[in-house]
Amino acid sequence: MHEIRFHGRGGTGAVMASRALAKAAFYAGKNAVSFPSFSAERRGALVLAFARINTKKIYRKSQIYEPDTIVVLDNSLIELIDVAKGLKPEGIGIINTSKKPEEIQLSNQIQLGVLDATKIAMETLGQPYANSAILGALIRSTNLVEMKELEKGILSVFGSKLGQKQATENVEAARLGYEATVFGKSQGGRNYSKIQPWLPSVDELPIGTILPKTTVETGQTIGPGSATIRITGTWSYIKADINQDLCIQCLKCVFHCPEGTIHRKDGKVIVNKAYCKACGICESICPVNAVEMIKIKEFSEIKP
Ligand code: SF4
Ligand code: SF4
Repeated sequence: MHEIRFHGRGGTGAVMASRALAKAAFYAGKNAVSFPSFSAERRGALVLAFARINTKKIYRKSQIYEPDTIVVLDNSLIELIDVAKGLKPEGIGIINTSKKPEEIQLSNQIQLGVLDATKIAMETLGQPYANSAILGALIRSTNLVEMKELEKGILSVFGSKLGQKQATENVEAARLGYEATVFGKSQGGRNYSKIQPWLPSVDELPIGTILPKTTVETGQTIGPGSATIRITGTWSYIKADINQDLCIQCLKCVFHCPEGTIHRKDGKVIVNKAYCKACGICESICPVNAVEMIKIKEFSEIKP
């Protein structure tokens, strides 16, 4: 049996990817199951999806704790959770990243197949849904199914939800992902034990303030370390942008942004797009319409 664990965020297509892979395995004459595990019900929340593929009947029903393959659709997750946890010694990780394998640090040194699946998705779909491209990388790394079977799986699963045109574009993304995959080894030794809790205790809040200064320039937030350890990454391709000619610096958006990602710098009010989740609150609250929600085309320019 081959067990695959997908790490994604709500809205990034981890569940669709696991379903399309299972369907492809079915077309290859194998037995397959897929199922998701959600956290908060919102876009951007952490999502796990699982797939099991076997030539024999599959009786195991649990989540997958010792996968043969891990798939990471959003590389900002690497900083938050131990994606390599439980991976079998001969297992492999498939990561959506523009980095080389040796530039990626995980808890253990593991075999990696990497590709810039978001870039491929932007070029083929016009949206940063990396799931199809990463499926191409997955089958190249594991030989679980042939490309023709993956194509049928994508056309079936994506086609029934998005229509045949988008399904065909996703097939093209999978082919490009297959070709673009680069293999190597990660670094090990990343320590996940020091992630800060999301909320400060009451004793950590300075008297008379509810918004203490954070350690990096992501603006003010409800507590130290909350927004700064939760990079929204590529799951949101719409981000807030402030027109400096219109902005009167009333700071309403600073105090209403739930991610604390709007702040003052060099006499301007600006958005740190790495943390913006595109809720649009700043746009609706601005009294002079200085905030515009813009579509991001080049994610490599967005840095914390
Ligand atoms: S869109 Fe939402 S998260 Fe982004 S800057 Fe505006 S208020 Fe903050
Ligand atoms: S609410 Fe509008 S005018 Fe006020 S600081 Fe924000 S962008 Fe500028």
